Amino acid sequence: HAKENGRNNYQFFEQDMNVLAVERHSIEGGLRRALERQEFMLHYQPKINLETGTISGVEALVRWQHPQRGLILPEQFVWIAEDCGLIVPMGAWVLREACRQAQAWQDAGLPPIPVAVNISAMQFRHKDFLESLTGILKDTGLAPRYLELELTESVLMHDADSTACILKVLKAMGVRLAIDDFGTGYSSLSYLKRFPIDTLKIDQSFMRDITHATADSDDAAIVAAVVSMGKSLNQRVIAEGVETREQLAFLQAQGCGEGQGFYFSRPVTAEELVTLLRTGIAASIFI
Ligand code: C2E
Ligand code: MG
Ligand code: MG
Ligand code: MG
Repeated sequence: HAKENGRNNYQFFEQDMNVLAVERHSIEGGLRRALERQEFMLHYQPKINLETGTISGVEALVRWQHPQRGLILPEQFVWIAEDCGLIVPMGAWVLREACRQAQAWQDAGLPPIPVAVNISAMQFRHKDFLESLTGILKDTGLAPRYLELELTESVLMHDADSTACILKVLKAMGVRLAIDDFGTGYSSLSYLKRFPIDTLKIDQSFMRDITHATADSDDAAIVAAVVSMGKSLNQRVIAEGVETREQLAFLQAQGCGEGQGFYFSRPVTAEELVTLLRTGIAASIFI
C-alpha cells in the first residue's frame, strides 16, 4: 500500500511540476513581450530623515502592468527574470528609467534627492554592467551622486575580489552604494571595511517584533547594534519596513538616521511622489 501511495504521490508531484513548468514558460514569454511593449513601470518609495521628517531619497521598485492580470509585484517575476537571464535587459531598463525620472524631477525644480535602484547578482556581474551604467548616466544627465545602488549581501559576498574591484570603480564614479536587507545574508563584517559602502539598510524582518519604543527583544538588540556600528564606520543606516509609530520611536531613541516603510508612505507613482516632495509626508515623525 505504502508503495502505491508513494507512486501516486510521485505522479501528483510530477503533474504539479509540469503545471509549474508550463506556467513558468508562459511567464518567461510574457516577460520578454513586456520588455518590448514597455509594460514595466516603476513605483517610488520615500526614505525619511528621522530627525527632520523630510524625504532624503527614494527607492525605485519595479512593477509589471500586465494587460490581463493587472499590476504584478516583483516577488512574482524577478526571480524568473533572474533565472532566464532577462534580468539583465530588464535591470538596464529599470536603471535608465529611474535615472531619467530623477533628472526630470530635478529639471522640474524639485529638491534633488538620490534615487536608489535594486541590482541583482547577474546584472552586477555582467561584463557590460559598468559600461551600461556609464552610458545611462551620460544619456540621462543624472549626476552620479544622485544614484544609489542597492546590493544584497549575497551579491556582494559571491566573489570578494571581483566585487571589491567593481565597487571601487563605482565609488570612483561617485555612485552611492548600499547593502540591502542587511543582516539576513552571510556578510563578513570585515568586508564592511574593505568595501566602500555608504549605507546599511536593516532588513524589515528585524522591525516586526519591535512593538514599543523601549523594545528589548533580540531583534531590537540587533537593530541597535547595526545603528551603532554604522556610526563607527561612518555609514548611513536606514531601517526598512517601518510600519508603526512605536517602531519609529524606537529607531529615534537608537539614533537611527533614516527610515522607510508603510508608516511614512507606500511605494507610489512618479506623479504621486511629486506631491509628496512638494507637501511632505502626512505622517508625523515628532511623537
Ligand atoms: P527590497 O529592495 O528590500 O524592497 C523593499 C520591499 O519592501 C518593497 O517590496 C516594498 O514595497 C516593501 N515595503 C516597504 N515598506 C514596507 C513596510 O513597511 N512593510 C512591508 N511589509 N513591506 C514594505 P516590493 O516592491 O514588492 O519589492 C520586493 C523586492 O523585489 C525588493 O525588496 C527587491 O529585492 C526586489 N525588486 C524590486 N524592484 C526591483 C528591481 O527593479 N530590480 C531587482 N533586481 N529587484 C527588484
Ligand atoms: Mg531595495
Ligand atoms: Mg530590502
Ligand atoms: Mg528584500
